[in-house]
Amino acid sequence: MRFENLCEKYNETIKCLVCERRCSIKEGKKGICRNYINLEGKLVHIGYGKISTVESRPIEIKPFFHYYPNSTALTFSGFGCNFYCPWCQNYHLSFSKLPENTRETPPEELVDLALRSRNDGLCASFNEPTTLYTYLLDTFELAGRRGLYSCLVTNGYFTTKALRRLIESGASGFSIDIKGCPKMKVLSTVDHRKVFRNAKEALNLGAHVEMVYLTITSTNNFEECYHWIFNMHSKILGEDVPLHINRYYPMNYWKEPPTAVKKLLKLKEIAQKEYNLNYVYVGNIGSVKHETTYCPTCGEKLVIRSEYRVLKWNLEKDNRCPRCSQKIPIYGNITRF
Ligand code: SF4
Ligand SMILES: [Zn+2]
Repeated sequence: MRFENLCEKYNETIKCLVCERRCSIKEGKKGICRNYINLEGKLVHIGYGKISTVESRPIEIKPFFHYYPNSTALTFSGFGCNFYCPWCQNYHLSFSKLPENTRETPPEELVDLALRSRNDGLCASFNEPTTLYTYLLDTFELAGRRGLYSCLVTNGYFTTKALRRLIESGASGFSIDIKGCPKMKVLSTVDHRKVFRNAKEALNLGAHVEMVYLTITSTNNFEECYHWIFNMHSKILGEDVPLHINRYYPMNYWKEPPTAVKKLLKLKEIAQKEYNLNYVYVGNIGSVKHETTYCPTCGEKLVIRSEYRVLKWNLEKDNRCPRCSQKIPIYGNITRF
């Protein structure tokens, strides 16, 4: 187990420092995410290698639009979560109390499977990867040695120490969900500023970041909230970090109607015009137009996508616009059609 400096002991209690929940865990008890337990004064990762789902998936579905375009990642998950969003799209995994439907999968087995089934990388997704933390360290290190990339779809709530170690182990792509803003009523115990702090730290350490804003009707898409998100994005991460504004559909306990498409398009316009964000996409509406990358300088269509694949790649060597030579930030190579 690899918790050095990621937990602190106080008498009968251990404080877990894997994520910013910083759970104080009493002897025999588990933390909020149900994956870490205090056993005889030691923090033990009981979720290590307990894998609930494994599936080859296109990288664009995460979404990642500027990271190894058109590649395929062996995508895997554990169980539990540190947030428990009431609208969770994968609540059957996140809200699961017991790893009943998981299968013990050592890192070697997962990496072998990824290579055998011709994937280009690994992606921890579906439930929050924080729950698989020490398993990710081992698996990503091995994956890197065997020529695979490693990425995560996450709420980005790691402690900075945990995040740094994850990147050292080989995590190079972060698709980070920003759940809302400080004025939001739901998830009121989450400090959303820390999500941006971590996204910036990942960029500073050379990793790739894309932000995802699932806009939920009457929940996190009121004026003050989206201005806060766009402002933090532009001020802290900069104009070139992609932003995916995604449509929400009712799920789990949340019954608000799906986000109006008109509202999503309006948000895209605000993010581009008022905050100068260069790569804003609208997802979950099946629109080729709103999943296309345009040159921020001359407007040329550069990467056309449909159904989570690249349809047309119109970039020159070094990922430059063929019309004006503007360099487009893309991490990793395109997998040719
Ligand atoms: S990783 Fe789990 S146990 Fe550790 S602080 Fe976060 S929620 Fe708590
Ligand atoms: Zn151009």
